Amino acid sequence: MTPSKFFIPGPTWVRPEILQEMTRPMIGHRGAEFKELFGGINADLKPLFATKGDTFVVTSSGTGVMQAALENCVARRVLVTTCGAFSERFYAIAQSLGLEADRLDAAWGQPVDPGELADHIASRRGHYDAVTITQNETSTGVTNDVAALAKVVRDESPDSIIIVDSVSALGGMPVEVDAWGLDVCIASVQKGLALPPGITVAAVSEAALKRAAKHPYRGTYFDFLEYKKHADGGSVPSTPSIPHFYALAKQLDYILRQETLPKRFERHRRMRDMTIERTASFTELASDLTHASVTVSALKPRIAPETLRNRMRERGYAIGGGYGEWKESTFRIGHMGDITIESLEAMLADLEQAARA
Ligand SMILES: *Cc1c(COP(=O)(O)O)cnc(C)c1O
Repeated sequence: MTPSKFFIPGPTWVRPEILQEMTRPMIGHRGAEFKELFGGINADLKPLFATKGDTFVVTSSGTGVMQAALENCVARRVLVTTCGAFSERFYAIAQSLGLEADRLDAAWGQPVDPGELADHIASRRGHYDAVTITQNETSTGVTNDVAALAKVVRDESPDSIIIVDSVSALGGMPVEVDAWGLDVCIASVQKGLALPPGITVAAVSEAALKRAAKHPYRGTYFDFLEYKKHADGGSVPSTPSIPHFYALAKQLDYILRQETLPKRFERHRRMRDMTIERTASFTELASDLTHASVTVSALKPRIAPETLRNRMRERGYAIGGGYGEWKESTFRIGHMGDITIESLEAMLADLEQAARA
């Protein structure tokens, strides 16, 4: 296989056989063939999310389902935990929906602290309908301890719905929806699942569906109860991106039964360690090493990040730019999805040369 030269933190490199799968002929989404395809997808999404609960596939990018989670589960107040640009997006969405949103901010490059979350919730006697957590902050390359943060919410505010953005986590690191007690867990497919962008997968708990049932105005396109009703009948509420469903079915089979989750997670840990080690002589990790993400690294090079990226572009590579507040000072390497150790190794060798050129 030609090694990938595409290392941005989403969309990620897609294996040719997945692209090929998307060229199959159309089928109707109300027929038996679709029902069988979708049934297989849902059966495979459960081990991926480690849940026995409902899983949905939504034709939208991840942001749409982030909005959906707030529309379905929040009547009035939401607490948004932030540690970078993507976690802040929940705050922007909440504001755009006219919700009362509070923020608990960690510094960029740091994870959200469970103790601070406990103190914050305890100090606000008011009730939060939901708390949002971002598992892997793609702008800084920081992974939050979702198990610990979700436990704090369960203990301090048992009625709050826990909404987790696992967009750049799912498929690269464990996501344990049932064990961690998550209510809505969201992942677009163009990151750790290494599919072309266009659909989003989600796990949704019974508590989240009950909460949605209390809200009369959930909109039409993203109504979780419509998703649940149609999923029970083997379909989705409106015409889905059928090529993506073919690709997702094939990719889930590959992840669970060919590569297997333990090996996939191990490969991601190796890619993270290799990236940090091989860049140490010419860059500095921009974020907390103890929470360094296995799927993306934000790095501060000695030379201007833009110069380095241009030199890599001349060598045929795409690497990620800095994001948000860190746009000027960092660059990012996406080491997630189906990127191989060998192609990462080759890229890092070229990166080292580019940094010294
Ligand atoms: C990419 C990303 C998003 C945005 O997802 P879209 O599919 O582009 O809407 C949200 N959260 C995180 C953590 C991301 O990495």
